[in-house]
Amino acid sequence: MINVTKPFLPPKEEYNHYLKEIWRREWLTNNGPLVNELELKLKEYLDVPHLFYVNNGTIAIQIAIKALGLKGDVITTPFSFVATTSSIVWENCRPIFVDINPKTYNIDPKLIEQAITPETTAIVATHVFGNACEVEQIEAIAKKHNLKVIYDGAHAFGTQRNNKSIFSFGDISTLSFHATKLFHTIEGGAIITHDASIANEIARMRNFGLEGGESIKCVGINGKNSEFHAAMGLCNLKYIDEILEKRAVLSARYTKMLEPLRIGEIFSHAPNGFNYAYYPILFKNEAILLKVIEALHKIYVHPRRYFYPSLETLSYITPKQEAKNSNDVSSRVLCLPLYHDLSFEEVDMISRAILRTQNY
Ligand SMILES: *Cc1c(COP(=O)(O)O)cnc(C)c1O
Repeated sequence: MINVTKPFLPPKEEYNHYLKEIWRREWLTNNGPLVNELELKLKEYLDVPHLFYVNNGTIAIQIAIKALGLKGDVITTPFSFVATTSSIVWENCRPIFVDINPKTYNIDPKLIEQAITPETTAIVATHVFGNACEVEQIEAIAKKHNLKVIYDGAHAFGTQRNNKSIFSFGDISTLSFHATKLFHTIEGGAIITHDASIANEIARMRNFGLEGGESIKCVGINGKNSEFHAAMGLCNLKYIDEILEKRAVLSARYTKMLEPLRIGEIFSHAPNGFNYAYYPILFKNEAILLKVIEALHKIYVHPRRYFYPSLETLSYITPKQEAKNSNDVSSRVLCLPLYHDLSFEEVDMISRAILRTQNY
Protein backbone atom coordinates (compact mmCIF):
# COMPACT_ATOMS: atom_id res chain seq x y z
CA MET A 1 0.00 0.00 0.00
CA ILE A 2 1.21 3.51 -0.82
CA ASN A 3 -0.17 6.34 1.33
CA VAL A 4 -0.04 10.03 0.59
CA THR A 5 2.78 10.31 3.09
CA LYS A 6 5.07 8.18 5.19
CA PRO A 7 7.14 9.62 8.01
CA PHE A 8 10.90 9.83 7.61
CA LEU A 9 12.60 7.71 10.28
CA PRO A 10 16.27 8.17 11.12
CA PRO A 11 18.57 5.17 11.75
CA LYS A 12 17.44 3.64 15.05
CA GLU A 13 20.95 3.78 16.58
CA GLU A 14 20.94 7.55 16.22
CA TYR A 15 17.71 7.86 18.19
CA ASN A 16 19.03 5.33 20.74
CA HIS A 17 22.03 7.53 21.33
CA TYR A 18 19.69 10.31 22.54
CA LEU A 19 17.60 7.84 24.57
CA LYS A 20 20.71 6.83 26.50
CA GLU A 21 21.37 10.46 27.34
CA ILE A 22 17.77 10.93 28.48
CA TRP A 23 18.01 7.86 30.76
CA ARG A 24 21.28 9.12 32.19
CA ARG A 25 19.91 12.60 32.95
CA GLU A 26 16.38 11.51 33.90
CA TRP A 27 15.18 14.85 32.53
CA LEU A 28 12.15 14.14 30.38
CA THR A 29 10.45 17.47 29.75
CA ASN A 30 10.23 21.16 30.85
CA ASN A 31 12.73 22.89 28.62
CA GLY A 32 15.35 20.18 28.81
CA PRO A 33 18.76 20.18 27.12
CA LEU A 34 17.54 18.43 23.95
CA VAL A 35 14.68 20.92 23.55
CA ASN A 36 17.22 23.72 23.93
CA GLU A 37 19.58 22.15 21.45
CA LEU A 38 16.78 21.65 18.91
CA GLU A 39 15.66 25.27 19.29
CA LEU A 40 19.21 26.53 18.73
CA LYS A 41 19.71 24.36 15.66
CA LEU A 42 16.33 25.32 14.19
CA LYS A 43 17.04 29.03 14.71
CA GLU A 44 20.27 28.59 12.86
CA TYR A 45 18.81 26.46 10.06
CA LEU A 46 15.78 28.71 9.54
CA ASP A 47 17.77 31.90 10.11
CA VAL A 48 15.44 33.44 12.71
CA PRO A 49 16.16 35.17 16.05
CA HIS A 50 13.42 33.75 18.32
CA LEU A 51 11.92 30.28 18.01
CA PHE A 52 9.86 28.34 20.56
CA TYR A 53 9.43 24.60 20.22
CA VAL A 54 5.89 23.61 21.23
CA ASN A 55 3.81 20.44 21.39
CA ASN A 56 1.96 20.89 18.07
CA GLY A 57 1.23 23.27 15.23
CA THR A 58 -2.30 24.04 16.42
CA ILE A 59 -1.19 25.23 19.87
CA ALA A 60 1.40 27.31 17.99
CA ILE A 61 -1.36 29.21 16.15
CA GLN A 62 -3.45 29.59 19.31
CA ILE A 63 -0.52 30.99 21.30
CA ALA A 64 0.35 33.31 18.39
CA ILE A 65 -3.18 34.76 18.38
CA LYS A 66 -3.13 35.19 22.16
CA ALA A 67 0.37 36.68 22.27
CA LEU A 68 -0.68 39.38 19.79
CA GLY A 69 -3.86 40.03 21.80
CA LEU A 70 -6.12 39.64 18.77
CA LYS A 71 -9.83 40.40 19.06
CA GLY A 72 -12.76 40.88 16.70
CA ASP A 73 -12.39 39.99 13.02
CA VAL A 74 -9.42 38.14 11.62
CA ILE A 75 -8.97 37.93 7.86
CA THR A 76 -7.90 34.46 6.82
CA THR A 77 -7.75 31.99 3.98
CA PRO A 78 -10.48 29.41 3.31
CA PHE A 79 -7.93 27.09 1.70
CA SER A 80 -5.92 25.61 4.57
CA PHE A 81 -6.05 22.84 7.13
CA VAL A 82 -8.98 23.20 9.53
CA ALA A 83 -6.61 24.12 12.41
CA THR A 84 -5.99 27.57 10.88
CA THR A 85 -9.67 28.48 11.16
CA SER A 86 -10.51 26.53 14.31
CA SER A 87 -7.68 28.27 16.20
CA ILE A 88 -9.14 31.67 15.33
CA VAL A 89 -12.58 30.59 16.53
CA TRP A 90 -11.08 28.90 19.63
CA GLU A 91 -9.47 32.21 20.57
CA ASN A 92 -12.86 33.96 20.31
CA CYS A 93 -12.13 35.83 17.10
CA ARG A 94 -14.28 35.79 13.97
CA PRO A 95 -12.72 34.41 10.78
CA ILE A 96 -13.41 36.53 7.71
CA PHE A 97 -12.55 34.52 4.62
CA VAL A 98 -10.81 36.22 1.73
CA ASP A 99 -10.69 34.09 -1.40
CA ILE A 100 -7.52 32.58 -2.87
CA ASN A 101 -5.64 33.22 -6.08
CA PRO A 102 -6.48 30.06 -8.06
CA LYS A 103 -2.95 29.96 -9.49
CA THR A 104 -1.03 29.94 -6.19
CA TYR A 105 -3.78 28.58 -3.88
CA ASN A 106 -2.75 31.29 -1.39
CA ILE A 107 -4.91 34.15 -0.07
CA ASP A 108 -5.30 36.78 -2.82
CA PRO A 109 -3.78 40.05 -1.55
CA LYS A 110 -5.83 42.02 -4.07
CA LEU A 111 -9.02 41.01 -2.25
CA ILE A 112 -7.85 41.74 1.30
CA GLU A 113 -8.42 45.51 1.50
CA GLN A 114 -12.10 45.35 0.59
CA ALA A 115 -12.66 42.93 3.49
CA ILE A 116 -11.13 45.21 6.13
CA THR A 117 -13.57 46.87 8.57
CA PRO A 118 -13.07 48.76 11.86
CA GLU A 119 -13.39 45.36 13.57
CA THR A 120 -10.43 43.82 11.72
CA THR A 121 -7.33 43.23 13.85
CA ALA A 122 -5.20 40.81 11.86
CA ILE A 123 -4.48 38.67 8.82
CA VAL A 124 -3.78 34.95 9.29
CA ALA A 125 -2.49 33.49 6.02
CA THR A 126 -1.15 30.04 5.12
CA HIS A 127 1.83 29.33 2.85
CA VAL A 128 -0.17 26.61 1.10
CA PHE A 129 1.73 23.43 0.19
CA GLY A 130 4.97 25.26 1.06
CA ASN A 131 4.46 27.89 -1.64
CA ALA A 132 5.17 31.34 -0.13
CA CYS A 133 2.34 33.89 0.11
CA GLU A 134 2.82 37.26 -1.55
CA VAL A 135 4.23 38.51 1.73
CA GLU A 136 5.35 41.93 0.48
CA GLN A 137 1.81 42.90 -0.57
CA ILE A 138 0.25 41.44 2.56
CA GLU A 139 2.64 43.36 4.82
CA ALA A 140 2.05 46.63 2.96
CA ILE A 141 -1.70 46.26 3.51
CA ALA A 142 -1.20 45.32 7.16
CA LYS A 143 1.02 48.34 7.76
CA LYS A 144 -1.42 50.73 6.10
CA HIS A 145 -4.34 49.47 8.21
CA ASN A 146 -2.40 48.73 11.40
CA LEU A 147 -3.13 45.00 11.37
CA LYS A 148 -1.04 42.15 12.79
CA VAL A 149 0.09 39.33 10.50
CA ILE A 150 0.43 35.65 11.40
CA TYR A 151 1.64 33.14 8.83
CA ASP A 152 0.64 29.53 9.26
CA GLY A 153 3.88 28.03 7.95
CA ALA A 154 2.99 24.42 8.78
CA HIS A 155 3.98 23.46 5.21
CA ALA A 156 6.81 25.92 4.72
CA PHE A 157 9.84 24.39 6.45
CA GLY A 158 12.82 25.32 4.28
CA THR A 159 10.87 27.64 1.95
CA GLN A 160 12.70 30.81 0.89
CA ARG A 161 11.39 34.07 -0.57
CA ASN A 162 13.93 36.18 -2.51
CA ASN A 163 16.75 34.28 -0.79
CA LYS A 164 15.33 35.03 2.64
CA SER A 165 13.79 32.59 5.08
CA ILE A 166 10.02 32.72 4.66
CA PHE A 167 9.87 32.98 8.44
CA SER A 168 11.41 36.46 8.35
CA PHE A 169 8.01 37.90 7.45
CA GLY A 170 4.97 38.81 9.55
CA ASP A 171 4.67 39.41 13.30
CA ILE A 172 4.62 35.68 14.01
CA SER A 173 5.02 32.52 11.93
CA THR A 174 3.98 29.09 13.13
CA LEU A 175 5.12 25.62 12.09
CA SER A 176 3.93 22.07 12.53
CA PHE A 177 6.35 19.19 13.04
CA HIS A 178 3.64 16.52 12.93
CA ALA A 179 4.74 13.12 11.59
CA THR A 180 3.10 13.85 8.23
CA LYS A 181 5.16 17.02 7.63
CA LEU A 182 8.44 17.03 5.74
CA PHE A 183 10.42 17.82 8.88
CA HIS A 184 8.84 16.17 11.89
CA THR A 185 9.34 15.47 15.59
CA ILE A 186 6.45 12.94 15.80
CA GLU A 187 4.19 15.64 17.27
CA GLY A 188 5.45 19.17 17.58
CA GLY A 189 5.50 22.69 16.26
CA ALA A 190 7.20 26.04 16.62
CA ILE A 191 6.43 29.72 17.01
CA ILE A 192 8.77 32.23 15.38
CA THR A 193 8.97 35.99 15.86
CA HIS A 194 11.46 38.80 15.27
CA ASP A 195 10.16 40.93 18.11
CA ALA A 196 11.80 40.44 21.50
CA SER A 197 8.78 41.56 23.53
CA ILE A 198 6.42 39.23 21.62
CA ALA A 199 9.03 36.51 22.21
CA ASN A 200 8.85 37.11 25.98
CA GLU A 201 5.09 36.86 25.90
CA ILE A 202 5.23 33.58 23.97
CA ALA A 203 7.81 32.13 26.37
CA ARG A 204 5.49 32.75 29.33
CA MET A 205 2.31 31.63 27.58
CA ARG A 206 3.91 28.35 26.55
CA ASN A 207 4.60 27.57 30.20
CA PHE A 208 1.35 28.32 32.11
CA GLY A 209 2.09 32.06 32.22
CA LEU A 210 4.99 31.41 34.58
CA GLU A 211 8.08 33.57 34.67
CA GLY A 212 11.17 32.58 36.58
CA GLY A 213 9.53 29.52 38.11
CA GLU A 214 7.11 31.16 40.54
CA SER A 215 5.62 34.41 39.41
CA ILE A 216 2.54 34.10 37.18
CA LYS A 217 2.48 36.94 34.66
CA CYS A 218 -0.39 36.10 32.33
CA VAL A 219 -2.91 33.48 31.27
CA GLY A 220 -0.90 30.62 29.88
CA ILE A 221 -1.26 27.11 28.60
CA ASN A 222 0.89 24.00 28.48
CA GLY A 223 2.60 24.29 25.11
CA LYS A 224 5.81 22.51 26.11
CA ASN A 225 7.28 19.57 24.26
CA SER A 226 9.38 16.68 25.56
CA GLU A 227 12.98 15.51 25.30
CA PHE A 228 11.81 12.43 23.35
CA HIS A 229 10.20 14.58 20.68
CA ALA A 230 13.17 16.92 20.53
CA ALA A 231 15.46 13.90 20.10
CA MET A 232 13.51 12.84 17.00
CA GLY A 233 13.84 16.38 15.68
CA LEU A 234 17.61 16.42 16.25
CA CYS A 235 17.95 13.10 14.41
CA ASN A 236 15.79 14.21 11.48
CA LEU A 237 17.37 17.64 11.15
CA LYS A 238 20.65 15.97 10.19
CA TYR A 239 18.93 14.62 7.06
CA ILE A 240 16.91 17.70 6.12
CA ASP A 241 18.93 18.69 3.06
CA GLU A 242 18.68 15.15 1.73
CA ILE A 243 14.92 15.12 2.43
CA LEU A 244 14.34 18.43 0.60
CA GLU A 245 16.49 17.35 -2.35
CA LYS A 246 14.70 14.02 -2.72
CA ARG A 247 11.28 15.68 -2.77
CA ALA A 248 12.37 18.05 -5.53
CA VAL A 249 13.61 15.11 -7.60
CA LEU A 250 10.43 13.06 -7.05
CA SER A 251 8.26 16.08 -7.87
CA ALA A 252 10.14 16.65 -11.12
CA ARG A 253 9.53 13.01 -12.00
CA TYR A 254 5.77 13.38 -11.45
CA THR A 255 5.75 16.57 -13.52
CA LYS A 256 7.52 14.82 -16.38
CA MET A 257 5.33 11.71 -16.22
CA LEU A 258 2.10 13.71 -15.98
CA GLU A 259 3.01 16.20 -18.68
CA PRO A 260 0.25 15.01 -21.07
CA LEU A 261 -2.33 16.16 -18.48
CA ARG A 262 -0.88 19.67 -18.20
CA ILE A 263 -1.61 19.78 -14.50
CA GLY A 264 0.57 20.37 -11.50
CA GLU A 265 -0.06 24.07 -12.01
CA ILE A 266 1.32 25.14 -8.67
CA PHE A 267 4.83 24.38 -9.82
CA SER A 268 4.76 26.79 -12.71
CA HIS A 269 3.86 29.53 -10.23
CA ALA A 270 6.12 28.54 -7.37
CA PRO A 271 9.13 30.86 -7.35
CA ASN A 272 12.66 29.70 -6.51
CA GLY A 273 12.91 28.57 -2.94
CA PHE A 274 9.91 26.25 -2.96
CA ASN A 275 10.30 23.25 -0.61
CA TYR A 276 8.21 20.63 -2.50
CA ALA A 277 6.25 19.81 0.63
CA TYR A 278 3.34 18.39 -1.39
CA TYR A 279 2.52 17.32 -4.93
CA PRO A 280 -0.96 18.70 -5.64
CA ILE A 281 -2.70 18.25 -8.97
CA LEU A 282 -5.80 20.05 -10.12
CA PHE A 283 -8.26 18.13 -12.29
CA LYS A 284 -10.83 19.66 -14.63
CA ASN A 285 -13.69 18.76 -12.35
CA GLU A 286 -14.66 16.73 -9.30
CA ALA A 287 -15.99 13.80 -11.34
CA ILE A 288 -12.57 13.23 -12.92
CA LEU A 289 -10.90 13.57 -9.51
CA LEU A 290 -13.21 10.90 -8.06
CA LYS A 291 -12.46 8.58 -10.98
CA VAL A 292 -8.74 9.01 -10.40
CA ILE A 293 -9.10 8.27 -6.68
CA GLU A 294 -11.09 5.13 -7.48
CA ALA A 295 -8.47 3.95 -9.97
CA LEU A 296 -5.65 4.57 -7.50
CA HIS A 297 -7.46 2.78 -4.67
CA LYS A 298 -7.64 -0.29 -6.93
CA ILE A 299 -3.85 -0.44 -7.02
CA TYR A 300 -3.62 0.28 -3.27
CA VAL A 301 -2.51 3.88 -3.68
CA HIS A 302 -4.09 6.37 -1.29
CA PRO A 303 -3.79 10.00 -2.35
CA ARG A 304 -5.52 12.65 -0.26
CA ARG A 305 -8.06 15.34 -0.99
CA TYR A 306 -6.20 18.18 0.63
CA PHE A 307 -7.51 20.69 1.48
CA TYR A 308 -11.09 19.59 1.44
CA PRO A 309 -13.61 20.93 2.23
CA SER A 310 -13.07 24.65 1.78
CA LEU A 311 -13.14 26.18 5.27
CA GLU A 312 -15.86 28.80 4.73
CA THR A 313 -18.28 25.85 4.52
CA LEU A 314 -17.58 24.63 8.09
CA SER A 315 -20.76 24.20 10.10
CA TYR A 316 -19.57 26.50 12.90
CA ILE A 317 -19.00 29.48 10.61
CA THR A 318 -21.98 31.83 10.98
CA PRO A 319 -23.25 33.77 9.19
CA LYS A 320 -22.40 31.91 5.98
CA GLN A 321 -19.56 33.24 3.84
CA GLU A 322 -18.50 32.58 0.26
CA ALA A 323 -15.14 31.86 -1.36
CA LYS A 324 -15.66 30.79 -4.94
CA ASN A 325 -12.09 30.02 -5.97
CA SER A 326 -11.27 28.12 -2.81
CA ASN A 327 -14.45 26.09 -3.08
CA ASP A 328 -13.72 25.28 -6.70
CA VAL A 329 -10.05 24.33 -6.12
CA SER A 330 -10.83 22.21 -3.08
CA SER A 331 -13.43 20.22 -5.03
CA ARG A 332 -10.87 19.08 -7.62
CA VAL A 333 -7.39 19.16 -6.09
CA LEU A 334 -5.58 15.99 -5.07
CA CYS A 335 -2.24 15.50 -3.27
CA LEU A 336 -0.29 12.57 -4.65
CA PRO A 337 1.97 10.38 -2.50
CA LEU A 338 5.27 12.18 -1.81
CA TYR A 339 7.76 11.01 0.80
CA HIS A 340 11.43 10.26 1.20
CA ASP A 341 11.26 6.50 0.54
CA LEU A 342 9.04 6.76 -2.53
CA SER A 343 10.77 5.29 -5.58
CA PHE A 344 10.79 6.42 -9.21
CA GLU A 345 9.08 3.13 -10.11
CA GLU A 346 6.24 3.96 -7.72
CA VAL A 347 5.92 7.51 -9.09
CA ASP A 348 5.78 6.07 -12.61
CA MET A 349 3.18 3.48 -11.65
CA ILE A 350 0.96 6.08 -9.96
CA SER A 351 1.34 8.47 -12.89
CA ARG A 352 0.47 5.79 -15.46
CA ALA A 353 -2.64 4.83 -13.50
CA ILE A 354 -3.73 8.48 -13.52
CA LEU A 355 -3.05 8.84 -17.25
CA ARG A 356 -5.10 5.72 -17.99
CA THR A 357 -8.18 7.22 -16.30
CA GLN A 358 -8.07 10.20 -18.67
CA ASN A 359 -9.13 8.10 -21.67
CA TYR A 360 -12.78 7.51 -20.89
C1 LIG B 1 -0.63 20.24 9.97
C2 LIG B 1 -1.18 21.60 9.90
C3 LIG B 1 -1.56 22.33 11.05
C4 LIG B 1 -1.66 21.70 12.42
O1 LIG B 1 -0.50 21.17 12.91
P1 LIG B 1 -0.55 20.04 14.05
O2 LIG B 1 0.89 19.93 14.43
O3 LIG B 1 -1.10 18.81 13.43
O4 LIG B 1 -1.39 20.56 15.16
C5 LIG B 1 -1.95 23.65 10.90
N1 LIG B 1 -1.99 24.23 9.69
C6 LIG B 1 -1.67 23.57 8.55
C7 LIG B 1 -1.71 24.30 7.25
C8 LIG B 1 -1.27 22.24 8.63
O5 LIG B 1 -1.00 21.58 7.50
